[in-house]
Amino acid sequence: MTFNVSNIRKDFPLIDSHCLKLIYLDNAATTQKPLVVIDALTEYYKNKNANIHRGAYELSIHSTDLYENSRKVIRKFIGAHKDCEIIFTKNTTESINIVAYSFCETFLKMGGNIITTELEHHSNYLPWLAACSRKSGELRLLPIADDGFFSMTLLERLIDNKTALVAVTGASNAIGLLPPLKDIIKIAHAHNVPVLVDGAQLIAHSFVDVSAIDCDFFTFSAHKIYGPTGIGVLYGKEAYLEKMHPYNYGGDMVDRIGETFGTTTWQNLPTKFEAGTQDVGAAVGLSTALRYINVQGTTCLHAYEQTLTQYTLKRLDSIKGITVIAKHSPRVPLISFISSIFSPYDISMLLAAHGIASRCGELCAQPLMKKLGLKNGLIRISIAFYNTKEEIDRFCDVLEQIQTSYL
Ligand code: PMP
Repeated sequence: MTFNVSNIRKDFPLIDSHCLKLIYLDNAATTQKPLVVIDALTEYYKNKNANIHRGAYELSIHSTDLYENSRKVIRKFIGAHKDCEIIFTKNTTESINIVAYSFCETFLKMGGNIITTELEHHSNYLPWLAACSRKSGELRLLPIADDGFFSMTLLERLIDNKTALVAVTGASNAIGLLPPLKDIIKIAHAHNVPVLVDGAQLIAHSFVDVSAIDCDFFTFSAHKIYGPTGIGVLYGKEAYLEKMHPYNYGGDMVDRIGETFGTTTWQNLPTKFEAGTQDVGAAVGLSTALRYINVQGTTCLHAYEQTLTQYTLKRLDSIKGITVIAKHSPRVPLISFISSIFSPYDISMLLAAHGIASRCGELCAQPLMKKLGLKNGLIRISIAFYNTKEEIDRFCDVLEQIQTSYL
């Protein structure tokens, strides 16, 4: 299928809307939804809604099939081996918290350590800080060098025989950088240490194959890949998930309730980690979003986004007083910058006044802001495949106007 941005835009009601004159460059925060996803949600609640797993009637059986088929679509999309390795959660944050709680309960010994990096979103930092605190352990941070890269020698030095896990982002939500996942995983595995990849910013912009990169856990949120809010995914290798305790206790996840907690047994994977009524409609919405992307062709969507990103970087380079933080490639299609005159908040407000949606501040990445010495944070624009060169031109023209009017 040949890529045609005008046709793509027609698939997204909020982007295509002529009433809302907005240039939406806040896709890293959440993406807009194609009509097929909105329709799938409506259709589910209009004609297919029933609770899953225990109903003998046809509506419930059909709803269960929709839910379980969505799991299969997700498994294929990220290249996992088994359906039982795909756990539905609320979002990336909950997926990481499950691992930080359940994995660490078993595998993080008292006084042990977890390694994460300076590049992380708070969701891939605080759960580990809490886990280390529970086990009187240590959270170790792999620093980024001045050139924006990680030193694998330093990683080797940080890992020791008390390291329980390495947690690293697949792509930085703050500056767009892509850590060298394969190298990190290779080094960690050489020390028998598993790796969790926070895929929140990677999943929509890069081909993901969890089996090929051989990560042990992978997390993402549906709302960042054109799906609904309220649902996320935790992929985990069966061998680890089997040994981990449940995270939530309640309906569906129990096998037999014993006299004591110790004699109580749990359902098999993935149900062990899916206590209570799940967001079945959102699971259907997510699989519909992934099917939509597959039909468009991930390779051409990603290539288009990269072309727009390189174009944006080039244009920003010529605007006086604008400094882009980290221009490296490969990167995801988000760009962060600061102004020599205005605070990030002021720029974001002024852009908003011209109908341009951006994001500003610390971007849930305080350790990184501290490292970069950015007290007020950054302005971030983030691109999706429905954005156009004309939108980028308008954004750059407005930014240039804002800058030059005060220079
Ligand atoms: N990790 C990264 C890299 C993110 O960008 C985000 C969201 N901004 C999260 C984790 C948390 O995602 P959610 O809020 O959907 O749980």
